[in-house]
Amino acid sequence: MNIASIASGSNGNCYYLENNDDAILVDAGISARQIVERMARLGLSVSKLRGVFISHEHSDHIRGLDAFTKRYAIPVFITSKTYSSYGKILRGSSLNFFAPGMQVQLGKICVNTFLKSHDATEPCSFSVSAEGKTVAVMTDIGCKCASVTSHIQNADAVFLESNYDDDMLRTGYYPPYLKARIASDSGHLSNTQAARLLLEHASSRLKHVFLSHLSASNNTPELALGTFHHFIGQRNDLKVEVTLTSREKESALVSLD
Ligand SMILES: [Zn+2]
Ligand SMILES: [Zn+2]
Repeated sequence: MNIASIASGSNGNCYYLENNDDAILVDAGISARQIVERMARLGLSVSKLRGVFISHEHSDHIRGLDAFTKRYAIPVFITSKTYSSYGKILRGSSLNFFAPGMQVQLGKICVNTFLKSHDATEPCSFSVSAEGKTVAVMTDIGCKCASVTSHIQNADAVFLESNYDDDMLRTGYYPPYLKARIASDSGHLSNTQAARLLLEHASSRLKHVFLSHLSASNNTPELALGTFHHFIGQRNDLKVEVTLTSREKESALVSLD
């Protein structure tokens, strides 16, 4: 299985996962043109995509979906409530509804869907399995619910939100209501919350972490990485490679062997 971040951050998210024959995207939060360009730089073709899974209706996860599906007629997997909140009409033939908790099989890729704690209509995370490997895609989670911890335990790799540094958020310029929203149980995970989650719940099968959905205003790559190493350094049994994702460009394509 190969995986990459096509875009990650508070202004656009898109994640790529493939096995030999099939591929999926999770979210389409940047323009269709950017998705295709960034995939092409990694040598990836849109023709291999069997579906785009949508986590929730916030614009940083769905902005490019309309144009992307119009141009390429790739099936969209979305909950009916998220679709209602989206407000745009997608072509019926490419629309597939899933209920949170459902498993979707596309070729040899199996996508487990589960609800997460975030201030959207019906927000979902995904755990994607193929070729004996499992990758969790978990951004925009306000707290670690039982689903999050159990999927972390079973993951060989994870795209995990590391949204904000506590001090930067507290002392930053955001208005108080927005600070409270971000730090709430239906907002985002801080660097410390994300690193603690791994410290406490990752199993030794975890080999790769993509630190994801970093805030442009309340975080820096150095702080996210420093916090991660501080906590993960306490687990001698873990040998984890870490990738810092970017909103500006795609990550490398990582193979899980
Ligand atoms: Zn969101
Ligand atoms: Zn988001």
